[in-house]
Amino acid sequence: MYERDTIAAISTALGEGAIGIVRMSGGDALVMANQLFKGVNLLTQPSHTIHYGHIVDPESKQIIDEVMVTLLRAPKTYTREDVVEINCHGGIMAVQAILDLCLQMGARLAEPGEFTKRAFLNGRIDLSQAEAVMDLIEAKTNKAMQASMNQLQGSLSKKIRSLRQTMLNTLAQIEVTIDYPEYDDVEEMSLQQLKTTAQAISQEVQHILKQAQSGRLFREGINTVIVGRPNVGKSSLLNRLTGWDKAIVTDIEGTTRDTIEEMVNVRGVPLKLIDTAGIRQTEEVVEKIGVERSRKALEEADLVILILNQAEDLQEVDLELLKASQGKKRIILLNKQDLPSQLDRNALAESSGTATIIETSMLEEAGLDALEDEISNLFFKGQLQSTDINYLLNSRHTQLLKQALAALDEVQSAVAMELPVDLIQIDYTRAWDLLGEITGDSVQDELLNELFSQFCLGK
Ligand code: GDP
Ligand code: ZN
Repeated sequence: MYERDTIAAISTALGEGAIGIVRMSGGDALVMANQLFKGVNLLTQPSHTIHYGHIVDPESKQIIDEVMVTLLRAPKTYTREDVVEINCHGGIMAVQAILDLCLQMGARLAEPGEFTKRAFLNGRIDLSQAEAVMDLIEAKTNKAMQASMNQLQGSLSKKIRSLRQTMLNTLAQIEVTIDYPEYDDVEEMSLQQLKTTAQAISQEVQHILKQAQSGRLFREGINTVIVGRPNVGKSSLLNRLTGWDKAIVTDIEGTTRDTIEEMVNVRGVPLKLIDTAGIRQTEEVVEKIGVERSRKALEEADLVILILNQAEDLQEVDLELLKASQGKKRIILLNKQDLPSQLDRNALAESSGTATIIETSMLEEAGLDALEDEISNLFFKGQLQSTDINYLLNSRHTQLLKQALAALDEVQSAVAMELPVDLIQIDYTRAWDLLGEITGDSVQDELLNELFSQFCLGK
């Protein structure tokens, strides 16, 4: 890791325009923030904690704003450096004043894209992910944002890396041939292998290009299924989530009339919410159908939100649902916290595994922040991913993929013309390099600088 100075900038969280954030990154970020912060001593606090207090001008002793300071120690941060985020409430004036104080403490104003550039340089993200961040910032529509999100998860990078690994194996084989040119049959084998690999890779690249095209048109969110017995609060949750959210993307018609699906945006994470309820709770038979239907929905779920009514003890159906959702990423809500508790926590612990349990009251709108936090955590930690893998390619990616395709074509026709292996190898290596430029595994400095200068300030 490089030694770098501490940078600061105003950075406003996605979709939270009202709250300003001043973000600092670098070796002195904590010390600088601590000089401005009145509350706890930040230097002695553990990483990944949030602290309430005030920002005070150390010279005039004047209180600038009431703040929440997020403290993140290297290396588990966006930039892999120490990061402090000061969340201000007092509007743009306060944000600006706090940034000025950070600069007075010795921080340097970050260049556009510099946080992301550091993340890249410190190995936290690769180039295609960095570009995804840029696309994310610039995303005009939520659909495009979802695509960026997927890419942020590195699905494109993962694919490209595995292709390059395959190519590398063949290259290694060819090295052997070049070292021992006297073995004719080895050369013949290498030629065949080059041809086969070039063909296979070229098909994969075409596939990516094609998927990307359709991926641009439509993209799904994280399949999120809300399950629970009748009356536990499923619809209430759906309403709360969609009600808060000003950016409902689309109303998707349910595949059956008894399930409701809705696209919502939870802290920038696109969720396709499926309420398995829609069922009357009058007859026992219906409960059975409900469980069956839930089971089906569960199969396709990327994320399960299982709601229990903590004002009643666990029932047969609860246990069935707990069991049916076992292998899935899940969050368990203990709803109706406003009512006296009846649920046996020990019994629950036996069937809940590693699932996060959150106490909520839909009635009093309690616990919903914690739920949002958990969803966004799971997503950004990469534990949650849409099963519909799509790629969003920007024009640079498309260009590189097409160039790689051309180089692979050259390889195939050179093999057909029985040109010497070391000549063919040149085109082959070029294709390998071109693919590497997508992930930034092979990349020139100028390109880097140009890319990162396109970022918005504070990202
Ligand atoms: P669903 O059948 O699982 O979809 O449950 P609903 O969301 O339709 O809620 C069933 C009933 O429970 C409604 O009367 C809700 O107002 C009520 N309810 C939902 N959440 C809470 C809660 O947290 N506390 C209380 N006291 N009532 C709730
Ligand atoms: Zn309902």
